[in-house]
Amino acid sequence: MENKPKIFHAKSEEVAFDREHRRILKYNIGQYDKAVEKGRNFFRDMDNVREQASKIKEYVLQEFEPLLVRFEKNARGNGCEVQWAAEAADVYKIIAKIIASEDVRTVVKMKSMISEELEINHFLHKHKVESFETDLGEFIVQLAGEKPYHIVTPAMHKSKEDVAALFHQKYNMDPGSKPEEITAFVRNFLREKFMSAQMGITGANFLVAETGSVALTENEGNGMMTFSWPKTLVVIAGIERLVPELADLDLFWPLLAVHGTGQHVTAYNTILSGPAKSTEGDGPARMVVILYDGGRTRLFQDQDMVPALKCIRCGACLNACPVYKNIGGHTYQTTYTGPIGSVISRYMDTSQDMGFLNFASSLCGKCTDVCPVKIPLHKLLLANRHKIVESSDSVGVERFFFNNYKKYMMRRRRLERINPKWKNKAMTTIGIKVWGPRRDPLVFAKESFHLTWKKKGF
Ligand code: SF4
Repeated sequence: MENKPKIFHAKSEEVAFDREHRRILKYNIGQYDKAVEKGRNFFRDMDNVREQASKIKEYVLQEFEPLLVRFEKNARGNGCEVQWAAEAADVYKIIAKIIASEDVRTVVKMKSMISEELEINHFLHKHKVESFETDLGEFIVQLAGEKPYHIVTPAMHKSKEDVAALFHQKYNMDPGSKPEEITAFVRNFLREKFMSAQMGITGANFLVAETGSVALTENEGNGMMTFSWPKTLVVIAGIERLVPELADLDLFWPLLAVHGTGQHVTAYNTILSGPAKSTEGDGPARMVVILYDGGRTRLFQDQDMVPALKCIRCGACLNACPVYKNIGGHTYQTTYTGPIGSVISRYMDTSQDMGFLNFASSLCGKCTDVCPVKIPLHKLLLANRHKIVESSDSVGVERFFFNNYKKYMMRRRRLERINPKWKNKAMTTIGIKVWGPRRDPLVFAKESFHLTWKKKGF
């Protein structure tokens, strides 16, 4: 098995010192910050809006079972087939059956992080089904053979030159192609796939319990093609995606748009309530909704972590995080990255211990400040750290180290009794491993500021 913490440290160091990577990230997050600042003006009282959204999500978590059952009942009433899946294997079984019964050879996919969790493309490939990501950013990362870099903007790490080079390599386009030319090419390429695909796959931004509807939001219209053209539509939805009523979208859609991209509202917003009726010309003949757990109930079982289930996957905490901005998305090696990814990954995928990610935070609290549903992310990171340290074998060693550290840091005289030469020696032998060889060495002054101050008689 891969040593994920080791890879994480090595990659962090590599990426943090990659100037070009930092330039691209800084530019893209800078553009996002400007747009969000404007977008937030859409709300007269943003804090109140966040509070309301948080309360609705808290209500959902309190009434979780009845709301899920209500959604299921209403979705069935709309003509959907509703299936429950505890783990990835259950989803694969359901999809394999549909592939066989509908003779599926081509799938078009709308951007969805849940399908990344499940590595659906890989699964389809194994079943000899070709699948196409239809969101431009997702299309680019699929073409590059990569995973999404960010939960909202999957190709955020690529410059327009990188993308042009990729399309030159894969489709022999002019290496100097402009973004509009590349977009037009992808549009034409996908048009034919939309028309020939037997199945579409989407996630769900929200599941409306009141009406049994799936609410989807997107900017490119690719989603609408995904669920309008193919005969069969499969929606894979995380069970936490619930909102109680249709009217709640009035709050959540603009909130998600503002925090995701800075728009007041996303370009295309769709409420899907079952397959096409006999009087409707467009839409799938068959609609299957898979309600997927995939570790969400593990979060539920840990009382401290329940607030993490309020997440609406807007990506704002990633863009605000100083660690994410330095090490980038791929370094995390998880589907969900940044602060929210660090909190939930150890619960979502227990095949690897991803707990170490909770230590990749300065705990500055910026993630908590920007979260539209008021998840106290820095507190959750800290709570996870406590749990990990308490259950760790190294707890004895850590306690010894930190007790002594505290003893010396709290008593100035003790600290000053150590000769700076020895302090420097300790830093260049033991401390260098933590401090890293790329930083300027830490050199202790011959005399502390406190002593100098005292000698001068201030
Ligand atoms: S934790 Fe909050 S800020 Fe981060 S993605 Fe979820 S909703 Fe957005």
